[in-house]
Amino acid sequence: MEKPLQPQTHAIRGQMDRTQYREHATPLFLTSSFTFDSAEAMAETFAGERAGIIYSRYNNPSVDELVAKACALEGTEAGFATASGMAAVFASLAALVKQGDHIVATRALFGSTHQLLTNILPKWGVTFTYVEPEQPETWAAAVQENTVLFVTETPSNPGLKLVDLAAAGKLCKAHGLLFVVDNCFATPVLQRPADYGADLITHSATKWMDGQGRVLGGLLLGTQEVMDKVIAFCRHTGPAMSPFNAWVISKSLETLHVRMAAHCQSALAMAHWLGEQVAVTQVHYPFLESHPQHDLARRQMTAGGGIVTFELAGGIAAAQRLLNAVQLCTLSSNLGDTRTILTHPATTTHSKLTPEERASVGISDGLIRMSVGLEALVDIQGDLLRGLG
Ligand SMILES: *Cc1c(COP(=O)(O)O)cnc(C)c1O
Repeated sequence: MEKPLQPQTHAIRGQMDRTQYREHATPLFLTSSFTFDSAEAMAETFAGERAGIIYSRYNNPSVDELVAKACALEGTEAGFATASGMAAVFASLAALVKQGDHIVATRALFGSTHQLLTNILPKWGVTFTYVEPEQPETWAAAVQENTVLFVTETPSNPGLKLVDLAAAGKLCKAHGLLFVVDNCFATPVLQRPADYGADLITHSATKWMDGQGRVLGGLLLGTQEVMDKVIAFCRHTGPAMSPFNAWVISKSLETLHVRMAAHCQSALAMAHWLGEQVAVTQVHYPFLESHPQHDLARRQMTAGGGIVTFELAGGIAAAQRLLNAVQLCTLSSNLGDTRTILTHPATTTHSKLTPEERASVGISDGLIRMSVGLEALVDIQGDLLRGLG
């Protein structure tokens, strides 16, 4: 039997079939629907008896190519692409719960995921309990008779807390829970939750997968059994990704492995360099030995990722001074870009939380989140020195 291709080879060579023009790069199928040769062919395609594409809310060749590549990267059986990461996260929950169900989730979740759990799903009678990401021994106590999902994200945004995926996989198996992981920060290059038994993996493809800040996108990747439910939900609720965005992201996946290697190498060097700066009181990065879960990071990730966070002694004033001083780094809420981006979570993404709530997810007033880009490191460091001096 022929050996299956390595994931990074599939990301480059796993393209759709060529058209009659024998193009080398992948064509873009900007079409909302597809045609049929006969009434019978149409009927058989609708009945699922004949292969064929019907409508781009369900399938589109450009989107299917992206999904197949993402499945190869994550090691999953099936997938669906959505218009944004949040559409994927919402579908991952809404497709799998019903009134009266309960979710156990690790506390350090993306802000909008927290909103889904606290403000949206409760309207439909779905409840949740938060557990501490770093304390797997306490998770089982939160499982109730009506618990159906364990929802997690690792490393977390922006606290960079890690969740032990092996421990989570064991818990889900023991209690018959579906295991759902937001793998946006790590990407499948650094960790593959399916290897730990994850049933469903979500991505904001807007971030590292596109990697160049061009388009929004989300991915749902999982076992065939779970994806059958998720795909049915998505077909009828309509969060489908545009073929154009899929074409852009599919192209970006060709360079995901080399980009992530470069982002991670720069981020680790940046983390060490930041640690030497007098104005910086603390640096957080999973592959720094000072990270409280450093051993776990080395065990479950192949590199530390492209996000570094650091704390300035001067609190909000010092953080804002740095953001106002830089000329190369950009101030933006996005991350996972070729361009280095700085954000100040306490006054932006997490300003609605109380200082105590922020502290519980590891966000101090002087914390800066840095998405390390692909510029020359010396240029980013020189830029930061404008505001760190
Ligand atoms: C950005 C992000 C999302 C949401 O993705 P969008 O594409 O912005 O909708 C979800 N989870 C994590 C961890 C993210 O960083």
